[in-house]
Amino acid sequence: MAEADPLAGADPSMSICIKPNLVVAKPASSGATTSPELVEAVIEYLYSKGLRTVYIMESSVVGIDTMRAFAACGYDKVAQRTGAELVDLKRTETADVSVDGYRMTVFRKVLEVDYLINMPVLKAHCQTLMTCALKNLKGCIPDSEKRRFHRLGLHEPIARLNRAIKSHFVIVDALCGDLTFEEGGSPVRMDRIVACEDPVAVDAYCARLIGLDPQSVEYIGQAERYGVGRAEPVTVIESGEPAGSLELQKPSGLVARLTRNVHSKQACSACFGGLVHALYRLQELGAQRALEADLYVGQGYRGVTLDGFGIGDCAGKSSHCVRGCPPKAEDIVRALREL
Ligand code: SF4
Repeated sequence: MAEADPLAGADPSMSICIKPNLVVAKPASSGATTSPELVEAVIEYLYSKGLRTVYIMESSVVGIDTMRAFAACGYDKVAQRTGAELVDLKRTETADVSVDGYRMTVFRKVLEVDYLINMPVLKAHCQTLMTCALKNLKGCIPDSEKRRFHRLGLHEPIARLNRAIKSHFVIVDALCGDLTFEEGGSPVRMDRIVACEDPVAVDAYCARLIGLDPQSVEYIGQAERYGVGRAEPVTVIESGEPAGSLELQKPSGLVARLTRNVHSKQACSACFGGLVHALYRLQELGAQRALEADLYVGQGYRGVTLDGFGIGDCAGKSSHCVRGCPPKAEDIVRALREL
């Protein structure tokens, strides 16, 4: 992604939709929902550009009251502080659209804004393996259409939905995502923000971040074939220091089990989180030897000679090491599968 300001010279009268992921009424610390602090920072940036018409739009999953989700995630306070308008799309009109002869129903308000900033959370998904930018637009369709998407197998309709509704810019909240399930419960802190104009490129990149081959997430390839974007490299912005103030909700215990043989000393969240995702994939693959191996990660191992498997450049003096700062989960999976 070019580092140019995507809103340089924007017309101040433009209307902006921020589409977070508030799939359920849980705080961002659960790993399920977009950080309100990140959204607030984006709103402040928009205001600094003279853009004043900002909406935060969402429709939570079937059966969840969106306004309750806004409140549970702290978005009511964001709206009070900034003046941005919260829009429960479930209470708004719909419109029928056709994409290459494929009809679907979407919320009209999303079509009417001038610019859409898609702000998903990077999470695993029980049906599609992963949810990020492309799938986040499912919050722009009514409950009846959500059910129909599920009947149609999700992938194809999600890819086409991204033709009907354009994400002008994507900012992925990979500060704290979820390892196994889109509704939270196994939060994994990664302290990352991924930003790009291309939702396909973002999703392909983020798939690798959580140890998945992008080709295994069907809708990514389908969206590319439908011309939504290209799976090309993106710029990654990472926080310099772990954000010490983030308190995660109590995880299910799965993370503790996966990391029982991990020796961590001053590990950055990006490194540790990537390792957790890799271990989860290795468990799925039945790579038991990898799960039993002693693994070393963190800045505390810099310069230390270790007889074991190092994760990241800091543990580079181990007898075996997956290089990178941080290393990709995909590379960790590949290396540990060979054990
Ligand atoms: S390798 Fe890089 S990301 Fe990993 S712990 Fe060291 S400094 Fe942090």
